[in-house]
Amino acid sequence: MSNDLLGPGDVLLESLPDEVVATMEVRDRWLAGLKSADGGLEFLVVDLQAWVPGQRIRVAFRGGDPGLWADIEQATAPISAVANLHLDFRAGGEFRTWSEQDTEHAAEIRVAFDRKGYFSLVGTDSVNPRIGLPQEPVGGRPGQLSLNLGGFTVNRPATWAGTVRHEFLHALAFGHEHQNMRGPCEAAFRWEDDPGYQPTQDNRGGYVVDASGMRPGVYTYLSGFPNGWSRAKVDHNLRTPANTAALVAGPFDPASVMLYRFPALFYRSNPSPCAPVGPGQELSDGDRQGLTLLYPRDDVATDAARGRRENLARALESTPGDDGLESFPGPVAEFSREAAARLRACLGSAE
Ligand SMILES: [Zn+2]
Repeated sequence: MSNDLLGPGDVLLESLPDEVVATMEVRDRWLAGLKSADGGLEFLVVDLQAWVPGQRIRVAFRGGDPGLWADIEQATAPISAVANLHLDFRAGGEFRTWSEQDTEHAAEIRVAFDRKGYFSLVGTDSVNPRIGLPQEPVGGRPGQLSLNLGGFTVNRPATWAGTVRHEFLHALAFGHEHQNMRGPCEAAFRWEDDPGYQPTQDNRGGYVVDASGMRPGVYTYLSGFPNGWSRAKVDHNLRTPANTAALVAGPFDPASVMLYRFPALFYRSNPSPCAPVGPGQELSDGDRQGLTLLYPRDDVATDAARGRRENLARALESTPGDDGLESFPGPVAEFSREAAARLRACLGSAE
């Protein structure tokens, strides 16, 4: 698949590389084990995935030039204006950069422009060396990129600033609005083909309406050009998961920069309750509310968020079986110790 073949009506959805998703699923199984062991850890996912309120989040670039970097910094200013986080792009006045040879994290968010499409790791995954595979370009190791703005060095789309905000919100642990568990999208998507649909492809391999006017469903549509997604990949990217940061990130907001604009055939009805309202380029009220919930400025909420993470770090460091956590075999205990160390590092760089 090449971007060159894309036409104006083609929908190439954002997605993380498959090997990165596979390592995220290993992490999720570890998390699910922790959750099942104790009903009291309701904030577990959020506290492990999001940064600590007040934390300094460094951003570094590989590729591009200071003009582009300054535009990206500027586009994220509305996020910094709301969230109690310091998005720190510069060291000594100069923009921070990173390289594939780095052996320590130059920044929590490592931006590059040379992969296809747009994507970002979610929250603290960008400093988790178990996310992504060694030797691959994307992951949580120091020499791996965590946020890609493909082609921005050559040609920026008209909606570039909205794309920057969308990807940076992922980097701050936001999921997609269409996967918000309080939202209508799971029920509003046309997952399956129209009854009797005869698989019909255009000359590039995209699934289209058949001779009787029956439409492909979301699974069939995304299996064709230009996405080529498996059923599992559709589930990961579009279905609403049971446990996400959306647990505390507020109600569904159709004006969110985190809501995609899908083709009409994705929806059971048009207009759809899952369809976006407005251009989705600026932070919506719901986006700002989500930032305030995850990264509150008031002292009481900030202290509570820090206290929960300190307790969680202690629980993860304790002998398996203590604090309500189950006993896990070798590598899982290792995951827990590493997660505790990341929590402590984040707590240490929060004000
Ligand atoms: Zn996204």
